[in-house]
Amino acid sequence: MTVLNHWINGAEVAGTSGKTADVTNPATGGVTATLSLAGQAELDAALKAAAGAFPAWRDTSLAKRTQILFAFRELLNARKEELAALITAEHGKVLSDALGEVSRGLEVVEFACGISHLLKGGFTENASTKVDVHSVRQPLGPVAIISPFNFPAMVPMWFFPVAIASGNTVVLKPSEKVPSAALWMARLWQEAGLPDGVFNVLNGDKFAVDGLLDAPEIKSVSFVGSTPIAQYVYQRGTAAGKRVQALGGAKNHMIVLPDADLDLAADQAINAGFGSAGERCMAISAVLAVGSIGDELVQKIKERAVALRTGDGTRGCDMGPLVTQVAQDRVTGYIDAGEAAGATLVVDGRQGEFDADGNGFFVGPTLFDNVTTDMSIYTDEIFGPVLSVVRIDSFDEAIALINANPYGNGTAIFTNDGGAARKFQNEVEVGMIGINVPVPVPMAYYSFGGWKNSLFGDSHAHGTEGVHFFTRGKVVTSRWLDPSHGGINLGFPQNA
Ligand code: NAD
Repeated sequence: MTVLNHWINGAEVAGTSGKTADVTNPATGGVTATLSLAGQAELDAALKAAAGAFPAWRDTSLAKRTQILFAFRELLNARKEELAALITAEHGKVLSDALGEVSRGLEVVEFACGISHLLKGGFTENASTKVDVHSVRQPLGPVAIISPFNFPAMVPMWFFPVAIASGNTVVLKPSEKVPSAALWMARLWQEAGLPDGVFNVLNGDKFAVDGLLDAPEIKSVSFVGSTPIAQYVYQRGTAAGKRVQALGGAKNHMIVLPDADLDLAADQAINAGFGSAGERCMAISAVLAVGSIGDELVQKIKERAVALRTGDGTRGCDMGPLVTQVAQDRVTGYIDAGEAAGATLVVDGRQGEFDADGNGFFVGPTLFDNVTTDMSIYTDEIFGPVLSVVRIDSFDEAIALINANPYGNGTAIFTNDGGAARKFQNEVEVGMIGINVPVPVPMAYYSFGGWKNSLFGDSHAHGTEGVHFFTRGKVVTSRWLDPSHGGINLGFPQNA
């Protein structure tokens, strides 16, 4: 059995805590590796490595840092299929989707390659007589990144390229369900020339998370996961004096207006509802069919859903398994509950043929119609391939429903009416909005993040907000002596 360890100070470090977790292949249900979970010794070693590497890395020139970023980008681009295969083997998503995830992560690396420009400060000559003022942004120190299972490569890459390029050192704690991608990327950083200790991987559970939240060495925490844990991380991290961005769960709605192209809307509902088996924080889980289009739209989605092939992600299927048996049981439990509550089950993912060997954690595409807002399939984040159609009378009611939701991650509208789209983007209380685009994940040079219970903290990931999150500002006011200098004045400095 393969044992997966930690990556600390540029080397694999075997765990000594005695605590382990099984890593499985969700397509077969088989255990593929044993993961060492961190105890105090590994936590201390990771903190020491990140703190020890910081002074030299902070002082490394931007030219050198950028060269290493470019080298990492080139290596990752050349070997992205390897990383995608690791993701499919532990997460279950189909290979093309895993490759898509890596490509979106690569975009953040490319963004971070421009760090010299992003860190440029301002300069004002002669702000007061013979006084100049300039601003700089400096790195924070060792930073922690705690990531979820559903994007083993992309979510860590929302943060670490910008953190490292800005001069910080990193301790990444990946999800214990999908640890291999992080370890693979750590080795790649070393190959790219990153000094030891700048990027560390600490595998672990709550013990490791709490240790990072409390450690005085750690200056900021970037967390992505479910809302209750995000809230906990935000509260504990900020109470310990850290800067925290904690991205939480989601329940994303897609409005389809009567004037929309219903074939396009049905295609995109399928892509956004069932891509990655619905295990995306930007997945669409509720389709709001406005007016009298409901029957036609449901029929079109149904035709497409039954044609999807679900199975092992290495076999060219459309959709893979869920990540664990627990996830499979949770999702089938929601389907049972939706049926019991009286929603119309149009396509039942509990039944069906799955193209895989063994006992994989499969649930096929599932479509409910006539879902009402009191049902658990509507209120809860299911995080599986379950799409709910809610029939709704008017556009205003659809917007009100979205705004009443406690989450505010992503949302989309399908319409050919520019005025309606504009009203939607203006009024909807959600961080990321798609207009005839179902999964509106922002480009790396914009920032990713939701509103309300989908994000705690005030900085979104990557883009300029990411650069601000991983740096602190300083303003320097300077006067160089010349013969006119001198004199005592105890008044508050005024400019002249
Ligand atoms: P999770 O909250 O179970 O785990 C996330 C991380 O927290 C993992 O590293 C895990 O080890 C750690 N963790 C789990 N329980 C903990 C505890 N009690 N104390 C401290 N740490 C703990 O989330 P998940 O199941 O891995 O990921 C799915 C969730 O992530 C979904 O809710 C999804 O919406 C969300 N997500 C959100 C975004 C976003 O951008 N908002 C992106 C991806 C995923």
